[in-house]
Amino acid sequence: MERIILLRFGELFLKGGNRPFFERALIGNIKTALDGHEYEFEATRGRYIVSNYDPARERAIADSLADVIGLHSLSIAFKIKTDLDALLEAALALSPEIGAFRCTCHRADKTFPLNSQEFVREEGAYILSKKPALKVDLHTPQVEIFTDIRDDGTSFVYDNERILLGGLPVGTAGRGLVLLSGGIDSPVAAFQMAKRGLKPVYLHFHSHPYTSAAAREKVISLARALRRFTGAAELHLASFTEIQETLRKACAENYSVVLLRRMMIRMANRVAAKAGCLALVTGESLGQVASQTAESIAVTDAVAAPPVLRPLIGSDKGEIIAAARRIGTYDISVLPYEDCCTVFLPKNPVIRPTAERAEEEEGKLDVEGLLNRVQIEKIIV
Ligand code: ATP
Ligand code: MG
Repeated sequence: MERIILLRFGELFLKGGNRPFFERALIGNIKTALDGHEYEFEATRGRYIVSNYDPARERAIADSLADVIGLHSLSIAFKIKTDLDALLEAALALSPEIGAFRCTCHRADKTFPLNSQEFVREEGAYILSKKPALKVDLHTPQVEIFTDIRDDGTSFVYDNERILLGGLPVGTAGRGLVLLSGGIDSPVAAFQMAKRGLKPVYLHFHSHPYTSAAAREKVISLARALRRFTGAAELHLASFTEIQETLRKACAENYSVVLLRRMMIRMANRVAAKAGCLALVTGESLGQVASQTAESIAVTDAVAAPPVLRPLIGSDKGEIIAAARRIGTYDISVLPYEDCCTVFLPKNPVIRPTAERAEEEEGKLDVEGLLNRVQIEKIIV
């Protein structure tokens, strides 16, 4: 009996004529995730099968597959030549020692002598004859034994199904420029949009030397932590030191956050255009801080060229933290290094800014000149 990994995908079914496009992307992402492993890959109707791998690496391979966005579930299964006795032995091997079980069968091979109803009856009776203390329970079994009798002379028998991330394969929605701070929210926002098929390109603003090398490493680590879901990605590190110093000197202090955010968005417009990104993504959540009121969002959106996607807009902090823990970014995000925003934080940021006031303040600046002088370093994480 050979062990294989059976993969199912979900939402792709809805995609009709575009399905080959989504499947190609998903298969490409699976192969990227399994880079460095030896294995065979087979695509059959609605399923993928990974086989012929080193058994010692089964766990690692399954864990890598579990991070592939677009996959719906995974089962580790026995693959056997279709034969009634062999199927019954495999089922017996998977049956529990005590408690209750149920059997489920899907039969594609219409030449198999029993239909799926008849097969599960036979299977249940066989298991009970060998383990009379067991019970059959159709509703709340401890173990469910699945048999998939395929039409190519092989069958799969398994007792486990691990539910995976679902979503749409990364890249199928194009590229999105994620404004990545060192905080908790923006990595979660990147993940959420990746689950809708957006391939992240990251843009981070630092204020070196006010912000430290450790703060820079933290952002790189965050982007790296997301790589298991997104594949390798570009990270643009933009120096906003001159812009922040200028804002502090020239503009009203209570408007500095709004003005800084408008400069970030203007810079993001430029990077997005160059990097082929269709949208900007931020980790904003309504009302979380002064710069995330509807009024503030309106004033920053006024200078955005591509649409600004805010997947966390309706999430509260607790939900975002839970998500950050699940995707493995939380422990990095809470490292204590200063972000460029916190370094220059004003005492009383305006809560209801207006675009007119922002423009008036910007009238004191050479906005385009400041943006032209921003140094950007691009790395691949
Ligand atoms: P986060 O936890 O993502 O840092 P936050 O709650 O601290 O968010 P803000 O500091 O107001 O909120 O930032 C809101 C959003 O603006 C962030 O989620 C991020 O998308 C973007 N942003 C903030 N600071 C930076 C930065 N230094 N570089 C890039 N993007 C940033
Ligand atoms: Mg922040």
